[in-house]
Amino acid sequence: MTETTHIAEEGAAPACELIRAPLGLLAELTYRCPLQCPYCSNPLNMEKSPAELTAGEWGDVFQQAARLGVLQVHLSGGEPCLRPDLEDILKHAVAAGLYTNLITSGVTLTRDRLEGLAALGLDHVQLSVQDVDPEAADIISGYKGGAPKKREVARWVRELGLPLTINVVVHRHNIERLPAMIDYAVEVGAGRIEVAHTQYYAWALKNRAALIPTREQFKRSVEITNEARERLKGIIVFDVVAHDHYAVRPKPCMGGWGRNLIDITPTGKVLPCHACEGIPGIEIDNVRTKPLADIWIKGQSFNMFRGTSWMKEPCKSCERREIDWGGCHCQALSMTGDACATDPACELSAFHKDFAKLAEDEAAAPPPPFIYRRIGAYTEVKAAE
Ligand code: SF4
Ligand code: SF4
Repeated sequence: MTETTHIAEEGAAPACELIRAPLGLLAELTYRCPLQCPYCSNPLNMEKSPAELTAGEWGDVFQQAARLGVLQVHLSGGEPCLRPDLEDILKHAVAAGLYTNLITSGVTLTRDRLEGLAALGLDHVQLSVQDVDPEAADIISGYKGGAPKKREVARWVRELGLPLTINVVVHRHNIERLPAMIDYAVEVGAGRIEVAHTQYYAWALKNRAALIPTREQFKRSVEITNEARERLKGIIVFDVVAHDHYAVRPKPCMGGWGRNLIDITPTGKVLPCHACEGIPGIEIDNVRTKPLADIWIKGQSFNMFRGTSWMKEPCKSCERREIDWGGCHCQALSMTGDACATDPACELSAFHKDFAKLAEDEAAAPPPPFIYRRIGAYTEVKAAE
């Protein structure tokens, strides 16, 4: 599928723009996870497991997705390896002809299971690494002994001939070890590293003051990443997710709302963005009750911010409006009270200075304790407040 691929269905699209085929599907197989990272992008009120889509239901979703034009499926969570039927789910994805990427913390994997997944046709593994310092990794993840296990898993992935991406979420507690984390990714044979500055939604927003680095630390991390990217050309590819509070321009939400990606939650809710459920007036559809193509093309949620017709100034007349698509709606909502406002990460937003100052003030203060991500934990925190 290319940039120019569009779905033409007469009378289907309420938005004025032509609707493209989605490229990727994020399949959140479960919200359960043995780790408790305080920056997790899963929702605060996570769904319980009995209502999760079955392997058969995922199979149907994958067939629909492939017909719609999806090329890649990211098997994610929570921790997807907690699904005892992960093998069946993978078989369905392979049968649908999708490129399969397993996004995992690796801590529950065995070599035998990974070998089995590779034999079934798994194409790629993305391994999250919390820190190169084992003790710091234990603290941030609320899980003991993850670091040595992850190193082992990385070795198995490469031994089995699978491509490996190391995913690092950067925050004030590990930012000084960024050079060591880059070295780690090279050492374990990763072909790609994702250096993702924490995105402050869901659990990360709740833990913002505990996680946010200073502007100086952020600037230094950009220099380190740029230098490493040059030095390691041909060895490892860098994907960088910038820090919004210290940015000049925002990044496009999900590569552009309703343009590239579909996120499906463990119980089948179909989301244009994983943090969008709190947007007032948004209507979320479910694959259990509606065909995926209908949701992608006609769904109220996907059309809410598709294209540029929803924009207000300064986005409306900005030359970057079809580059960053006005940035993040959830961030605009939480800072300005209006999801149609310009993302405060943009210097042209009237709220940008306050947005940056908020980060600088929090980063200058001692970090508060983490609120660890657990099913049910948010309710306990709310009750204690
Ligand atoms: S960010 Fe941490 S807690 Fe959240 S799903 Fe990933 S490994 Fe689990
Ligand atoms: S004003 Fe809007 S479109 Fe222009 S750069 Fe800022 S967020 Fe992007």
